[in-house]
Amino acid sequence: MVPDTADVVVIGAGVVGLALADTWLSRNPNDTVVVIDKESELAQHASGRNSGVLHAGFYYAPDSLKAKLTRDGNRMLKEFCAERGVDVRETGKVVVTTNESQWRSLDQLFERGQANGVTLERIDEQQLKELEPLARTCGKALWSPTTAVADPVAVVTAMAARVGQRGGVLELGQEVVTAQPGSVTLKNGRTIKCGHLINAAGLYSDTVAHWFGVGMDYAMLPFKGLYWYGNWAPGTLKRHVYPVPDPRNPFLGTHVTVTVDGRAKVGPTAIPSMWRQDYGGIGNFSSGELARIARLYPRFFRSKHHNVWGLMRTELPKYSRKKLVSEAQQLVPALNPADFAQRGRPGVRAQLLHVPSGRLEMDFVVEPGDRSTHVINAVSPAWTSSLAVADHVISGIHRD
Ligand SMILES: Cc1cc2nc3c(=O)[nH]c(=O)nc-3n(C[C@H](O)[C@H](O)[C@H](O)COP(=O)(O)OP(=O)(O)OC[C@H]3O[C@@H](n4cnc5c(N)ncnc54)[C@H](O)[C@@H]3O)c2cc1C
Repeated sequence: MVPDTADVVVIGAGVVGLALADTWLSRNPNDTVVVIDKESELAQHASGRNSGVLHAGFYYAPDSLKAKLTRDGNRMLKEFCAERGVDVRETGKVVVTTNESQWRSLDQLFERGQANGVTLERIDEQQLKELEPLARTCGKALWSPTTAVADPVAVVTAMAARVGQRGGVLELGQEVVTAQPGSVTLKNGRTIKCGHLINAAGLYSDTVAHWFGVGMDYAMLPFKGLYWYGNWAPGTLKRHVYPVPDPRNPFLGTHVTVTVDGRAKVGPTAIPSMWRQDYGGIGNFSSGELARIARLYPRFFRSKHHNVWGLMRTELPKYSRKKLVSEAQQLVPALNPADFAQRGRPGVRAQLLHVPSGRLEMDFVVEPGDRSTHVINAVSPAWTSSLAVADHVISGIHRD
């Protein structure tokens, strides 16, 4: 039975909401903490639909939240998995180049790794061959030994179990339809009073923040990630293989990853989504969301901050599996579209657009509100960073 009053209510039982509840309870074991999710099962959105890659933290600007919280989050999530018996595969990752013009960007990535305190090595073609015989590079590459992989659904399930063991109340299948300082209202008409509200609503985090007058310059511009699994024997590919990303865009480019059980997987794409929970067909279609997102695109297209046309030119054709897999062949020449025909569970990135500037927000955004805290750009790699994000966010909350 959900209590009518709680010290803390968290909206969203994704990995971020659960990590926040877990951390709050570890510091305040006698508090009543309720985590509410509109889905009746866990891991229905990004937290259960991602690559499961435990990122190391070398991509991000050294002064960003992502840099610090990913490096620490990688370690914390591995410790969590060890404690809860969740398998982690220590694959490591190679970042490869396709031509010499990428060497400068590769060097910049290496320098970011150094600045962020992340272990990273410069390697040549011979060393790459020893680490991952199936990958190809143009002269130089990077090796990240701390990048790993786990099953995202297993992590979320284990996190929910720990929240429960700490005394947290998990309320699934209940949509929060509105909230204000001191209370939330559910779709069934019930109201829960709360001392503090934490917004971890993923694709709807901007909507929840706006109820509090927070983050009013931001709007959600979702991007869809499609995946294809290969039929190769488990263990054929040993390491994650990534390209050098375009630093003007917040996405990492099509990559080839290994799942925790050793399967090879190509993706994800970063295709524009026209509604938020756009996982395929017209499921979850919302004409209101379509209209709002369509209105954002002219501003995004005029943005000077990103290579928008380059993004559209490279991403839209990846609706075609053959096109996607063929592009990944530049990283792993043995890939063949015929071998990668099993569709993975698509995910949608909860990417925020700063509307006045037309800029996609690159860093995590945490905004305070009246008796509330809003985590409103929990984009990749917030799954890796979740426990460090929670530590950071909870440390910033001071009760009256
Ligand atoms: C394709 C893809 C690949 C990715 N790959 C990686 C990766 O390899 N490594 C990595 O670290 N990160 C990765 N990420 C990012 C990562 O998945 C997210 O950063 C993370 O899952 C965000 O967690 P969350 O809890 O904020 O969001 P979610 O998992 O989306 O959880 C939000 C929850 O809020 C609930 N909710 C929303 N509105 C309401 C409401 N009104 N009432 C009640 N409940 C509500 C939703 O039902 C949902 O369960 C990837 C993301 C995508 C999309």
